Amino acid sequence: MTPDDLAFDRNHIWHPYTSMSAPLPCYPVVAAQGTSLQLADGRQLVDGMSSWWAAIHGYNHPRLNQALQGQLAQMSHVMFGGITHPAAVALCRRLVAMTPAPLECVFMADSGSVAVEVAMKMALQYWQARGEKRPRFLTLRHGYHGDTFAAMSVCDPQNSMHSLYQGYLPEHLFAPAPGCRFDDEWQESDADAIEQLISQHHRQLTAVILEPIVQGAGGMRFYHPRYLQRVRALCDRYQLLLIADEIATGFGRTGRLFACEHAHISPDILCVGKALTGGTMTLSATLTTRHVADTISNGAAGCFMHGPTFMANPLACAVASESLALLQENRWQAQVASIETRLRTALLPLRTQPGVADVRVLGAIGVVETQRPVALAAIQQFFVGQGVWIRPFGKLIYLMPPYVITPEALQQLTAAVSAAVVRPDLFS
Ligand SMILES: *Cc1c(COP(=O)(O)O)cnc(C)c1O
Repeated sequence: MTPDDLAFDRNHIWHPYTSMSAPLPCYPVVAAQGTSLQLADGRQLVDGMSSWWAAIHGYNHPRLNQALQGQLAQMSHVMFGGITHPAAVALCRRLVAMTPAPLECVFMADSGSVAVEVAMKMALQYWQARGEKRPRFLTLRHGYHGDTFAAMSVCDPQNSMHSLYQGYLPEHLFAPAPGCRFDDEWQESDADAIEQLISQHHRQLTAVILEPIVQGAGGMRFYHPRYLQRVRALCDRYQLLLIADEIATGFGRTGRLFACEHAHISPDILCVGKALTGGTMTLSATLTTRHVADTISNGAAGCFMHGPTFMANPLACAVASESLALLQENRWQAQVASIETRLRTALLPLRTQPGVADVRVLGAIGVVETQRPVALAAIQQFFVGQGVWIRPFGKLIYLMPPYVITPEALQQLTAAVSAAVVRPDLFS
């Protein structure tokens, strides 16, 4: 990439959550292989992010590439209205088989946010079909569910700056974020607030939507499985649907194939995305039970009212199937367990460092929460200088490397984090 390319990028191309007039620097990546990103100047960076939870098997994986090429030779796309194809059927067979038992009807869409929109629309149509108008969702503070409007309306109101969209977003109910951490002793009172909200408002509630166990982009918080069990029981008691957004947590990241498994519960509607294609193509899916699907389908509309142009894109389905096949060969369990042990060993001692507010590790996720927010441009440059790709936000420096990372590469990541937290100039 030439300096001219970078200038064009700066002047014309939006990046996630950035200013067009004063953008932060962008690093040109020209290739990626295994757990390494190659910069245009030839430098190799160890990837600590899996491209936002997605690239679990590493980059340029021969089997994922082969699956794509095989599909490419057949057809790259065909409409899904009135047509089906082998790649979609093969993928959905796998999804139905590997997700909790009552989930058996699959809706495929193009991104996580759309999967959440679809889940929320399913819940609305479910109640509509039952002749009830239930306009509100209940969710947790510190949650994150995507950037489209319905998804945004159930994101943490402060983090996602609901104030910017006041008047445009429906107002839903927010329970306090769970206080009991994943490995704390369970406090029954932790679920009192959500119980009270549900018992008070259940007649107008469509569904409870939450991220099971790990609240991701809204704060990287890990909460107690008993909390999730209590919410499931409350949904059963008051006949509410439970939507589990496993877009970040699905496919092994937390040490279980799905985070719901930590609590031995299953939701009525499940959203998956991010790692679904192993980080190769954009694809998401929303799964639901036969009961929900039948109820929607027997309602006045007679169908579920959604149908993206690129629904079940064959290339994306083919590579997702292969990614799930790789998962089912089951090396991920040992890989994630080993990453967890190494993250604990390397990061937990940072708890006593001045400037560090908290350290937490679950599965292949390591989080160092700092007292002050990072100075993003400075810390990004520092990490690149250390030969690693780590992209913190706010007060959170976090690692979620590809499952295939070697102990040496992981050590490089944790060493870079340790080196950063003692540098006051990297924080604002
Ligand atoms: C990333 C994410 C989304 C949104 O997915 P996109 O593919 O970015 O639209 C939704 N929910 C959770 C929990 C996520 O982590």
